[in-house]
Amino acid sequence: MASFRIVENARLDARNTFGVRACAPMLVEVADAGALPELFGYAMLRDGPVLVLGGGSNLLFAGDAPGTVLALGGQQIRIVEDDGQRAVVRADAGVEWHALVLWTLGHGLAGLENLALIPGTVGAAPIQNIGAYGVEVREHLHVVEAFDRSSGEMARLDRAACAFAYRDSLFKRDPDRYVVTAVEFELGRDAQPRLDYAGLGDELHAMGIDAPRASQVAEAVCRIRRRKLPDPAVLGNAGSFFKNPIVPSAQAEALKAAHASLPMFAGSDDATRKLSAAWLIDACGWKGFREGDAGVAASHALVLVNHGHASGAQLLDLARRIAASVHERFGVALEPEPRIIGAAW
Ligand SMILES: Cc1cc2nc3c(=O)[nH]c(=O)nc-3n(C[C@H](O)[C@H](O)[C@H](O)COP(=O)(O)OP(=O)(O)OC[C@H]3O[C@@H](n4cnc5c(N)ncnc54)[C@H](O)[C@@H]3O)c2cc1C
Repeated sequence: MASFRIVENARLDARNTFGVRACAPMLVEVADAGALPELFGYAMLRDGPVLVLGGGSNLLFAGDAPGTVLALGGQQIRIVEDDGQRAVVRADAGVEWHALVLWTLGHGLAGLENLALIPGTVGAAPIQNIGAYGVEVREHLHVVEAFDRSSGEMARLDRAACAFAYRDSLFKRDPDRYVVTAVEFELGRDAQPRLDYAGLGDELHAMGIDAPRASQVAEAVCRIRRRKLPDPAVLGNAGSFFKNPIVPSAQAEALKAAHASLPMFAGSDDATRKLSAAWLIDACGWKGFREGDAGVAASHALVLVNHGHASGAQLLDLARRIAASVHERFGVALEPEPRIIGAAW
C-alpha cells in the first residue's frame, strides 16, 4: 500500500474549523511518516512552501495555501515506558487530541485531563504549547519526534529543546523547519488533580464530586467548554483568536488602577503581567458584534465566528479592527493566536 496520496487543486473548506473557502495547489496525505524523507527529496517539497495541516482549528486562511499542504494520518497510540507509577505514552501526529486524552485516562494515566476537548491533532499540540484550565502541554511533554527539513533527517527534541512559552514554541517561531510526526508524553498514575483554575472546582462541586479522579476532572472541563465555546461544527471558529497580552508590570498596574475589574495574571517574569484579552475586547463593545457573516461570539469576546459564508479576508479585517480599537483605548497590542495563511497580520 502506498504510504502517501496526492490530491491536486484540493479544497480545504472542510479542513479548517472557520469553514472558510481555501484551496491548495497540492495536498499530500501521508499515512506513514516514514515516507517524509523520500517526499522531501522532491524539489516541490524540498524547496517550495509547505504547510503542515492538522485539524485546521488554529489557522485562518485569509487566502489560498501558497504551496503544498501536508496532512499526516498516523493513528497509533502506545505506552513505550512504564514503571508502574509513571509511563511514557507515544502518539502519532495524526491522532485526534481529545481521543488521546481519553485513551490516557482509560489507561489510568493522569496529566492531560485539564486539556480535554481541545480540538485538533497530537502533532499540533506542541506547536503553540496548548493550554487550558491552568495546565500547558509542556508540563507533560517528554519528546517531540519530527522531520527536520533543514537536515533532511528525523530528530528527537526534548522539552528544553522545544523552547516552550505561553502559546509559543520553537516550532511556532520557525514554522517552516519541522514536521512533527509523533509526540511522547510523561504521565503519572497517582498525580494530584490541578483544580486551581477558576470555575473548575465549582463545576466539580456542582457535579457532587469532592475528591475527583482525573477522568472526572476531564468531564468537568468538557461540561464547561461545551457551555462556553461555540462548537465549530455548528458555528465556524478557531477558539480564542487573540493571545492574552503580556505587558510591562507598570503598564498593567496603571490599567488596573483605572479599571478595577480588569483581570490580571502572572506574566512571563516578575517585570511583566498578563492581561485578559477577552475583557479588553468586551470593554470595547465587540462581544456579539456581527457584520455580514463575520462576527464575535455572543458568549465569548475572544472567539471570532463565521456565521456562514464569511471569507478569511473578512474575518482578518474584523480581527484587525478589534485589535486597533483595543490599542487605541488601552494602549495594548493584541496578537492573533491562530496562524494566518495568505496575509500578514
Ligand atoms: C473551539 C476551539 C477551542 C479551542 N481551545 C483551545 C484551548 O483551550 N487551548 C489551546 O491552546 N488551543 C485551543 N484551540 C486552538 C486549537 O485547537 C489548538 O491550537 C490545536 O492544537 C490545533 O490543532 P490542529 O491539528 O487543528 O492544528 P492546525 O490548525 O491544523 O495547525 C495549527 C498550526 O500547527 C501547525 N501544525 C499542525 N500540525 C503540525 C505538525 N504535525 N507538524 C508541524 N506543524 C504542525 C500548522 O502548520 C499551524 O501552524 C481551540 C480551537 C477551537 C476551534
